Amino acid sequence: MVGKIALEEHFLCPGFEDYWKATVSDVDPNILTQVVSRLSDFGELRLSSMDRAGIERSVLSIAGPGVQAERDLATAVRVARVGNDFLAREIQKRPDRYSGFGHLPMQDAKAAADELERCMTELKFAGCMINGHTNGRYLDHPSLAPFWERVAALDAIIYIHPTDPVSPSPALDGHKGLRRATWEWTFETGSHALRLVFGGVFDRYPRARIALGHMGETLPFLLWRFDSRAKLYGIKLAKAPSDTIKDNILVTTSGMCSAEPLNCAIAALGHDKIMFAADYPFEQAEEAGHWMDNVALDDNVRADIAYGNAAKNFKLN
Ligand code: MN
Repeated sequence: MVGKIALEEHFLCPGFEDYWKATVSDVDPNILTQVVSRLSDFGELRLSSMDRAGIERSVLSIAGPGVQAERDLATAVRVARVGNDFLAREIQKRPDRYSGFGHLPMQDAKAAADELERCMTELKFAGCMINGHTNGRYLDHPSLAPFWERVAALDAIIYIHPTDPVSPSPALDGHKGLRRATWEWTFETGSHALRLVFGGVFDRYPRARIALGHMGETLPFLLWRFDSRAKLYGIKLAKAPSDTIKDNILVTTSGMCSAEPLNCAIAALGHDKIMFAADYPFEQAEEAGHWMDNVALDDNVRADIAYGNAAKNFKLN
């Protein structure tokens, strides 16, 4: 078994249940009860699953949109701090097994930047996770310039996690099975990342980096087409979109135990940009671990994807 750092592993913070509930409204109540018990556990349940998967360290993040679904700014700022302090205390109990991604009140650029800085410097988190848009505002919004300045200054990596779109696409009408994690979140989250690329955010902050789950939300598959169409439509950027994606975007294997998209991501971005994640407890950590151990890769490449790249990028041991 190859040693692993897992980067998209979720927990539920007391007081965050209502923010999370809407995201899982269509999940079977019996499955949900099990998921909640796994999300709330930082002990034997989680650790034994990590052991079976060969995960030496899990980087923990809040499940669901969290305070990004909050309408009141002061509440969002206060509750985000509560959530981050809670996570820091849990990590403190098992610093050998857990690290964390901070949770940010993205309603306000300065408040988000300040909490990012507190997470990185005081709480020693590995980075921060942002759960998609915040009340319809995406991360390329001009008002968020102070936030990106701080991301670049702190050399922080922002993991963009899926969330529900503001309104579902009519293309999915009548097909509940295509909503959320099947397809909807891929388009939503891939689009979010492309807004940053095509909106020139990485031209303005060349040192800023983001991470995407699910093998890059299909972006690695589409590099040539992004460049070709950006040229056709006269999009003015410092670099070709594919170069920005290669330079500023890291991807994880969360929820994708499949060799073909892994090989595509390696070919498109380079193996040093790919990192292991399971998406516990929404996916089986054991299945993800077993896949990582056995998918056809050179041993050094496997070790880098499973552990080394995350250790280097997120400064974890
Ligand atoms: Mn996830």
